Order: sequence, then C-alpha cells, then structure tokens
Amino acid sequence: MDCIFCKIANGEIPSATLYEDEDFRIILDVNPASKGHALILPKKHASNLYELPDESASKVLILAKNMAEKMTEALNCDGLNLVQNNGEIAGQTVFHFHMHLIPRYEGDRVKVGWKPGKLSDKTKEELLSALKIGG
Ligand code: AMP
Ligand code: ZN
Repeated sequence: MDCIFCKIANGEIPSATLYEDEDFRIILDVNPASKGHALILPKKHASNLYELPDESASKVLILAKNMAEKMTEALNCDGLNLVQNNGEIAGQTVFHFHMHLIPRYEGDRVKVGWKPGKLSDKTKEELLSALKIGG
C-alpha cells in the first residue's frame, strides 16, 4: 500500500522527528497551523480512528499529554488544540490515523471551530436513545 505516513512513521522517508518508540513516531507538520504543530503517527497502518486498535488508542492520548507538556514548557504556548480528523467530510486529507497537536498563542490566527447550534428537546431525546453506549 502506498501510504506516505506509513513510510514516514517507519523511517523510510525522513521526517523532523520529535519522538519515536516501537509503535509511534511524532513529527513536525510540514504545513503548520502554528509554531510547533506536530502529528502523532502510529507505525502500524490504520486509516482512521475506527481502525485503530484499542491499545494504540489508549497510548496515543498519553503521548499527546507528554508532548503537550513538553510544548508548553519549551514553546511557552498559551494553550493547545488536539485535533483528529476522520473522513474527508471532517477534513482528513491523509488516510493514515494521526493526531494533530496545535500549540496556541495569544493573538494567533489559527481557526479550529464551529458555529454553536442549539440542542432541542426532541433531538436530545432521539440522541439519548440512539447513542448511549456501555451499561
Ligand atoms: P489531515 O487533514 O487531518 O489529514 O492532516 C494531514 C496533515 O498532514 C496536514 O496538516 C499536512 O500538513 C500534514 N502533512 C502532509 N504530508 C506531510 C509530510 N510529508 N510531512 C509532515 N506533515 C505532512
Ligand atoms: Zn499508512
């Protein structure tokens, strides 16, 4: 399979690597939204969150937390967004799971957002019966 993030994650294509272990690589994004914008890539291919094994899913948030702490200390950012897109409609352009870490600075022009809607009682009831998991 011709997946650029598989090649980067596994070291076949060089990248600006901030962290590597046997399962993950963290790299700098080539088109950063802000200074320090990084991507967490699993080495084993998963197209998106749905395909990501549970073990990787739990590790990825711990890595994000460690990297976020390092960014805050080293870059002095004022906040940070974690972004993870699944599917073209959601803005995914590279179909190998990745999590964005986007450091935020006072006055930056980064846009990660949506227009807030209003949850109606009817929709709330529909969603409560459709979406509950576990238990
Ligand atoms: P997404 O839109 O969530 O799929 O994000 C893909 C991200 O990958 C974008 O922010 C790109 O700038 C970044 N990207 C694409 N190719 C490379 C590459 N070769 N090295 C580093 N980042 C890349
Ligand atoms: Zn891949």
